[in-house]
Amino acid sequence: MNNSKQHAALLCSPGLGHLIPILELAKQLVAHQNFTVTIFVVSSQTSHAESQLLNSTPTNPQLWHAVQLPSPDISGLVIPDDAVVTILAMMMREVRHAFRSALLGMEVCPTMLIVDLFGTESLPIAEELGISKFVYVPSNAWFLSLMVYCPVLDVEVKGDFVHQKEPIQIPGCRSILPQLDLDDTLSVRAHREYLDFVEIISRGVSKGDAILVNIWEDLEPKTLAALRDEKLLGRYTKVPVYPIGPLIRPTESSGSRGKVFDWLDKQPNESVIYLSLGSGGTLSYEQMTEMAWGLELSKQRFVWVIRKPTRTADGAFFTGGNGSGGDEDSPSKYLPKGFLDRTKDVGFVIPLWAPQVDILAHPSVGGFLSHCGWNSTLESITNGVPMIAWPLYAEQRMNSTMLTEEFGVAIRSKIPPWKKVVEREEIEEMVRKIMEEKEGIAMRERVRKLKTSSAKALEKGGSSYNALSQFAKHGELRCMKFANGGK
Ligand code: UDP
Repeated sequence: MNNSKQHAALLCSPGLGHLIPILELAKQLVAHQNFTVTIFVVSSQTSHAESQLLNSTPTNPQLWHAVQLPSPDISGLVIPDDAVVTILAMMMREVRHAFRSALLGMEVCPTMLIVDLFGTESLPIAEELGISKFVYVPSNAWFLSLMVYCPVLDVEVKGDFVHQKEPIQIPGCRSILPQLDLDDTLSVRAHREYLDFVEIISRGVSKGDAILVNIWEDLEPKTLAALRDEKLLGRYTKVPVYPIGPLIRPTESSGSRGKVFDWLDKQPNESVIYLSLGSGGTLSYEQMTEMAWGLELSKQRFVWVIRKPTRTADGAFFTGGNGSGGDEDSPSKYLPKGFLDRTKDVGFVIPLWAPQVDILAHPSVGGFLSHCGWNSTLESITNGVPMIAWPLYAEQRMNSTMLTEEFGVAIRSKIPPWKKVVEREEIEEMVRKIMEEKEGIAMRERVRKLKTSSAKALEKGGSSYNALSQFAKHGELRCMKFANGGK
């Protein structure tokens, strides 16, 4: 590699939802800031999805490449089944030694380290090497504000959040109801994932030289202002915040597009609702039945990415939704009897995994029932597609509040889907509303404005483009300081 350039080492925690924004950040740094990049990927033992994504992304060893770190063995640790945050925190803690050795073993030492939310315990390695260090929050400013403000809430709020009846106010954000809108990781203080969130994510986020966040200035101006105001959130985080997004996967420009696109090509513009719950989201049997009936009753066209129902909503997190692909994964085994036959002219069911970015970019798609993961949300906004918010876990709940109440680009069920089964009549009503009623049309107009402002932010001279340049300069200054003996 050319050692006159800045060279960023990016540490990526397990999960496709983490790898995708890290890869896109790497591409931006290479394409627009003349960086070289090494991505250190921590994979889960079960996930093939990350390696598939890496293999399908063309690398250029002169500019960027990925190093797969050995999957840490956490089998000896006692962790509740469904505490994804804790599992990720553990894996990232256990991998530190291997990561440090890999960094020290590099032919040319990188000039900066960028970690994601779960990697903050590796920041001291950058200090040891005398290089600059940054935290990348592949999410939005509301969520960043929650992280920054969490130690204050930890002191001020008495008892568990899950029992709080009063709304809480995070500076720069709309007030939220802890029981409904807050990240479920924070529900109960005694749970290990609460402690992991507060220690690793919340306290860790400000331990770098700056924070990168995957939004653009005009999306959340009030929240960004609060984060920079020393009387508000700036009291708790002293480091600069650079909004550099939206960084999302590009559409595939070539290759065989598959049957779903042949089908979409034949549908009228904006007539199809796309349903998908991210890389890990699943429904219960009961909810899946209601969903199928709701769709059928709505009489709207649909593309539905479907996986075998499970007990937990994040049932496929560590498999990237790949399932076994065997007979038991076949939708006919768990969808209502006759559903596939009755809807074959209006619907397209895709088991396990779909080319989401390309589907959302198709002109026939006019709505998205989404779990509100931040990548999916950005993919919807940047394609001007209004949403039905169907949050399941983690920060998806806050995202859904933001999309419905702050941006006005989504609707949601009266009672959140993680609290009780949403019945077919309500699903039918929501689908119709977003696809053909006045409310849906107004949302489409609003989301189109966001689409335009996001594109402007990324253009040369746009706010995100400039923020990335400022960030690169920030890294360079530190680098020069160390080259001059730390003066
Ligand atoms: N995704 C996809 N096909 C699928 C499901 C998900 O391509 O069938 C992609 C989606 O486009 C997004 C990512 O996987 O880029 C999911 O990230 P997100 O932050 O939305 O949710 P998470 O999976 O982290 O919960």
